[in-house]
Amino acid sequence: MRRRAPVKAGAPARLRPIAMRPPTPRNGPLPAIVLRSAAIPAGRLPLLRAALLASLLTLALAAALPERLRAEAAPPRITLFPASVETGDALVVEIDGRPLQRAAQEYTVSFAEQRLALFAHPVKGRGVHVGLAAVPLSAPPGTASLTVAWVDGGRPQSRRIPFHITAGAYGEERLRVDPRHVQPSPPDLERIRREQEKLKRVYASGSPSRLWSEGFQLPVPGEVSGPFGTRRVFNGELRSQHSGLDFRSQTGEPVHASGAGVVKLAEELFYSGNAVIVDHGAGVFSSYSHLSRIQVGVGQRVERGQRVGLIGATGRATGPHLHWGVKVNSVNVNPLSFIRATAALSP
Ligand SMILES: [Zn+2]
Repeated sequence: MRRRAPVKAGAPARLRPIAMRPPTPRNGPLPAIVLRSAAIPAGRLPLLRAALLASLLTLALAAALPERLRAEAAPPRITLFPASVETGDALVVEIDGRPLQRAAQEYTVSFAEQRLALFAHPVKGRGVHVGLAAVPLSAPPGTASLTVAWVDGGRPQSRRIPFHITAGAYGEERLRVDPRHVQPSPPDLERIRREQEKLKRVYASGSPSRLWSEGFQLPVPGEVSGPFGTRRVFNGELRSQHSGLDFRSQTGEPVHASGAGVVKLAEELFYSGNAVIVDHGAGVFSSYSHLSRIQVGVGQRVERGQRVGLIGATGRATGPHLHWGVKVNSVNVNPLSFIRATAALSP
């Protein structure tokens, strides 16, 4: 058996990140201005003026120094909105690190198993970053918290940001669908398993960067016929909770992308029928199900409002309608709460 070499007590300079942090314009030493006033011969006015200017500059720098140090030590301002959320809601986390302009990669934001993708705030500019979190439908109501971590002068820092989760008041409905979609045959079960694997891969393949710039919009006009979160009983036996929003409509009516992004899936699925999934980046996906026709292809860039397909009743559907889903960090969120939460992020 080989033994591990003992750790030498004096050696591990690399355990002291403060000493190892390379100087950068932000955290490095301030440039020193050396005044040589004693060396200036009397009567040489231009030199004196230069010296005076240099000393004024030094004074200005000296005045700025404590503020810099204070800023280095000051934690960023972290804001959540909305301040109070329901189960199934999307949550925006804003990290304002100004006047320091730490890069987004310098922060880690986590909530439950979610690690948030941060991006520069589209309106507030440099030094302010935002990320999106999802409160799952299954989240226990009560106080929850989100953790923001960063490194300050080589020292790891973190803050727990508490927030309150209220139980959403979701109704129940009973639906009649093709029995095949309630008690799938063994070959159908095998197909469902394959599709679930594929969907998992699709939702794990998102762009870490934000691909949208304008806010999100409803994919079709008209009223919501099936709200998010409703507890559903199919054919009196199968129970599930509605993972998106339904819009009843006529077969053949156009369906539009709710935001800009890249098509990651465009095919027929057992439950969703003809489906399109769009990656919007930064952990956000939207999906459009039960289409009669798909009008985009995988890999295609779509803009907000661009047609992705036509309304239909394919898959597990009671009639022609659109099922519109939004996922944040692979968690289904109420699409309306997502639109509200991200509205302030549009320039
Ligand atoms: Zn639906």
